[in-house]
Amino acid sequence: MLYTCPSCGAGMTYDADVHSLKCMSCGNTFEQAPASDRIDSPAASCANCGAPIENAEKKLTYHCEYCDSWMLLDTNITYQGLTPQKIVPPNSGRGRALEKIRTAFDNIAFMPDDFLYPEDDRCIKGEYVPFFLYDVEGEGRAVYECENTTSWDSGKTTYTKHDIYRVVREYRARYRDVPIDASDRINDRIIDRVAPFDRSDEREGLPKEILPGYEMSVFDKPPDSEEYYERSNAWTRDSSEDRVLSSVRGYDSVNRVESGYSSRNTASTYAFFPVYEYNYVYGSKTGDPEKDRKRSYTIYVNGTNDRVSGRAPISWWKLNLHFIVEGLCTVVSVAAIAGILRMIL
Ligand SMILES: [Zn+2]
Ligand SMILES: [Zn+2]
Repeated sequence: MLYTCPSCGAGMTYDADVHSLKCMSCGNTFEQAPASDRIDSPAASCANCGAPIENAEKKLTYHCEYCDSWMLLDTNITYQGLTPQKIVPPNSGRGRALEKIRTAFDNIAFMPDDFLYPEDDRCIKGEYVPFFLYDVEGEGRAVYECENTTSWDSGKTTYTKHDIYRVVREYRARYRDVPIDASDRINDRIIDRVAPFDRSDEREGLPKEILPGYEMSVFDKPPDSEEYYERSNAWTRDSSEDRVLSSVRGYDSVNRVESGYSSRNTASTYAFFPVYEYNYVYGSKTGDPEKDRKRSYTIYVNGTNDRVSGRAPISWWKLNLHFIVEGLCTVVSVAAIAGILRMIL
């Protein structure tokens, strides 16, 4: 379907700041998506201007760059037999996401001047990322070598007693809705750092009125894929081992000497969560994809709770100038660089 304003016929997007569909021309807002032409994919053309719809095989929303229209590609809603079950709309728009990134990176020195100060705020884009939420049952075993040390004096002699304990924990674990992103394009490491998502405003199915303005594609691998299983298994293993370790108390030192864990996914839910993505290429683009990729920086903002994750570039010109002016010693400079490179959590 094509999103067109009932008042003036122009295109509409979802405005997360006012929680409504908004006309890009007359500014009117609407609670419901208008009934409109059905857009099939991948063979269809834009229902507004007739331009071809490109690379639409897996897209749910599509933005026609010729006429600035947003549309929903209806025939992709059910894909490989699966239909979206849950979706959470963003709680605020692109402007606030950009402000959150600026705040998160505000105390990091040596950033290029134009980082996060783009002339066009459209370089930060909104996206609904596909996830599978897994119910997981796991079981594991961990063995810890623990020690308590006691010292006392007798005459001129100090005695130290080492009590060594072997602690065994066998456990079962159950998890609901472990979120694993189902998009190959998304950087798993960064997206995991902006999770979890606030689901208090979660909607059932795929409400059409919250979709335009946000890129959206179907999942890349099915929910029973080996890759997603390995990620959910690692997620629940790490969580379980942390909790089990925290239950081993009363010792001066605790060392894990054995561990084992296995899990199975018992159910999955097909869901979409909102993310803002900011892409920055340091320096002017070379046109060489590999060189540009190495100098590109991606930052994600969780659209439900504003958590930010990503890596900031370093302006080497500023860094050199700083060292000349300040005359910092090597030890300090190493510490500074380590600080700059740290991930923003
Ligand atoms: Zn209008
Ligand atoms: Zn068009």
